[in-house]
Amino acid sequence: MSKLIISTIGSHSALQILYGAKQEGFNTKVYCVKGKENLYKRYPVAQEIVTLDSYEDMLTQEPAINEIFIPHGTLIATLGKRALDIQIPVFGNKEGMHWEMVRDKNHQLLQEANIRTPKSYSSDKIDGLTIVKFPGAKGGSGYFLCSSQSEYEQQIAELLSAGSISEDDAKTAQIQEYITGVTMYPHYFHSIIHGRVEMLGIDRRYETNVDALGRLSQNNFKINPSYKVVGNQPLIARESLVPELLDFGDRLIEAAAKLFPPGLLGPFCIELAITPEEIVAFEFTSRIVAGTTLYVNGSPYSRFLFDEDMSMARRICREIKQAMGQRRLKELLT
Ligand code: AMP
Repeated sequence: MSKLIISTIGSHSALQILYGAKQEGFNTKVYCVKGKENLYKRYPVAQEIVTLDSYEDMLTQEPAINEIFIPHGTLIATLGKRALDIQIPVFGNKEGMHWEMVRDKNHQLLQEANIRTPKSYSSDKIDGLTIVKFPGAKGGSGYFLCSSQSEYEQQIAELLSAGSISEDDAKTAQIQEYITGVTMYPHYFHSIIHGRVEMLGIDRRYETNVDALGRLSQNNFKINPSYKVVGNQPLIARESLVPELLDFGDRLIEAAAKLFPPGLLGPFCIELAITPEEIVAFEFTSRIVAGTTLYVNGSPYSRFLFDEDMSMARRICREIKQAMGQRRLKELLT
């Protein structure tokens, strides 16, 4: 049998994915949209680089023999629901990507897992600080804050006249309770082979300009925060919080198995904000998150579990390897 090929799209967490695959002894392949190849030449983690004219070309790629595709955020952000039509066998349950993408479904799953999500408002019911989100906003750019219906209407009118949003965006804007808490993104792995949920690391996002605002006094002027992710920072949770984080992961897996069996397989994440009183989830992600690249050499948590350098990508490839050994690979792919 020819060696297995692990492939992904060149962006997001591709360096980690390809490196993790190499560590586990697989061949590697990266699909790059024209102009993005250089990064994967400068860091030699891909044995094969395939150039695409556009992300749409991913949908017509025929899988090579023994090729497994590892999906990440770029697939979802660029192709939306069409990502589910990719022909290369995907690691994980594609249905999970669907539940991730549709905001109502995303919250439905969290609620089924009994994890608190921010309240949603209609514009005439705004009674406190809210964050307004538009569909398809990538990495939180274009969100705004407001505290009343009149402020909401004024900001929407400004965005419409500047051409920053369409009438459709305005109609489907989601108005959410603003959670004043610190963010925490635990990285989980649901192992079918070991029948357990592992928490392998935690990160927080570094977002511009919101993470710069604390450095200014805003007494004399107003700056609208934006939430464009530019990087990630490592984090550990205080130890007494860890059981709760583990419990969240277990509950999300149980809820997913109930709502779309067999549920979520492999990596997933819950985006949390922690206030002095409670833990609230903004959303879940059904695949590897970019913050996991912090831990190519392992995180404290993955070290406790494996006592070796276990990144999320390496963990995925280890699962694939063990599944192959037990002739159970089909259970991990859709
Ligand atoms: P999202 O697009 O939902 O992942 O949100 C992007 C970023 O916006 C998050 O990482 C948070 O920093 C911020 N954010 C999203 N929803 C809320 C909320 N309800 N309250 C406070 N901050 C939020």
